[in-house]
Amino acid sequence: MAVPKSRVSKSKKKMRRAKNYKLDAPALSVCPKCGEAKLPHRVCKKCGTYNNVEVIKIEQ
Ligand SMILES: [Zn+2]
Repeated sequence: MAVPKSRVSKSKKKMRRAKNYKLDAPALSVCPKCGEAKLPHRVCKKCGTYNNVEVIKIEQ
């Protein structure tokens, strides 16, 4: 039977797992029409435009 030569310590194991823990903030771009922060490659939630073309009507 195979026997492990060395064991990873609790500290090393936790350090390895902690590396992938932190989440990145979502990428944001600025709408050219209203200047609002929006998700890139998505229609602007504020004014409903994409690439300066009105795609959806936003009700006031
Ligand atoms: Zn906008």
